[in-house]
Amino acid sequence: MAATSDILIIGGGIAGLSAAAALSAHAKVTVLEAEEQIGFHSSGRSATMLHYALGDRLVRALTLASRDFFDNPPDDFTDVPIGRPMPVLIFAREDEREALDALDADIAPFAELERLDAVGVHQLCPLLNADAVRGIADRRGIRIDPHALLQGNLRQLRRSGGELVTGARVATIAHQSGVWSVATEHGEVHSAPVLINAAGAWADVIAGIAGVRPIGLEPKRRTIITFDAPPGADLDHLPFAKTVGDELYFAPESGRLFASPMDEVPSEPTDAQPDDYEVALAAFRMEERTVVKVARIHSKWAGLRSFTPDHHPAVGLAEETEGFFWLAGQGGFGLQTSPAMARIVASLIMGEPWPVADIAPEQLSPARFG
Ligand SMILES: Cc1cc2nc3c(=O)[nH]c(=O)nc-3n(C[C@H](O)[C@H](O)[C@H](O)COP(=O)(O)OP(=O)(O)OC[C@H]3O[C@@H](n4cnc5c(N)ncnc54)[C@H](O)[C@@H]3O)c2cc1C
Repeated sequence: MAATSDILIIGGGIAGLSAAAALSAHAKVTVLEAEEQIGFHSSGRSATMLHYALGDRLVRALTLASRDFFDNPPDDFTDVPIGRPMPVLIFAREDEREALDALDADIAPFAELERLDAVGVHQLCPLLNADAVRGIADRRGIRIDPHALLQGNLRQLRRSGGELVTGARVATIAHQSGVWSVATEHGEVHSAPVLINAAGAWADVIAGIAGVRPIGLEPKRRTIITFDAPPGADLDHLPFAKTVGDELYFAPESGRLFASPMDEVPSEPTDAQPDDYEVALAAFRMEERTVVKVARIHSKWAGLRSFTPDHHPAVGLAEETEGFFWLAGQGGFGLQTSPAMARIVASLIMGEPWPVADIAPEQLSPARFG
């Protein structure tokens, strides 16, 4: 059977679309997305920050390698800004001093940090309780517009002749004579010698359908609520504020505030819904660490953050099966690392230069889970 594309990508989230955009300069790329719209799952449900308190050294290196893309976006990404400046504040009580020092040392190689005392912390975020007495601030944080980022990638894909097919839930996958044939549940068949698995929380499910060994991906649910800010709060200048431990973050959101209790509840791959307990926990922690009263929850949502066993992404060809390429496990950092990840995919598939000097391809290879 003749292939319909050079590369098929399963998943129209940020992982699939950014890889598609990068590859479309060199190859005929088709993206298959199960939902009717792009970014319906994790990519449309995140906290949308670029910051260095996320993940470990490898994740920070991927974030730093992506930074220039957000500062100087390519032409296809300039219609609507893909990000706007928002300072990041990591705050701590006196008893959390050691943890703050450790985080400061971890982030320092990647971002210019400012050490803040109690006065500085409250100047940057007047909503915090009096027990927030120390902090570190990165004044160059970026609040990402995920829809602008997705649309920019889609524009770049289409301009290069690539295609996105929505409502195309992949049901069967076969590999014959070096070609992957993928049939959707509507019976449409697409084929290509290279198949990229960018199915987010469903990446192990896709591997199962293709007869490829799974990598042990664990989707974990995280919840966000929005609510009114106190009268007079200067929403234009509030930071993205996070406890030094993984307890709470909050930030301004469309004229209100959002907050997450940073829950990590194991989940099946699914259309994640907020659970009452985590919703209540978000409100409780917000009231515990700030002067804000969460009188009424305006909206709430949940999304999945999917982790490999070592919490680093899996990017590269499956060892045992020709042409099956993993692009999964972006955890809680998939938006902010997507520019570097897309270049890594282009390097591994098209032989472009390797883009992140601090990381070796083996560190991302799915073979490490073999
Ligand atoms: C609450 C929350 C906060 C977050 N905060 C941040 C943050 O501040 N910064 C940051 O960088 N990241 C953040 N993230 C993480 C980020 O959202 C994810 O890492 C990223 O969106 C993962 O992208 P993806 O494309 O892999 O997954 P998805 O966006 O889930 O895309 C996968 C796609 O595959 C499709 N698919 C699945 N099965 C099939 C099939 N059989 N056929 C066809 N299509 C299929 C799905 O429909 C889906 O659209 C957060 C996530 C959450 C949930």
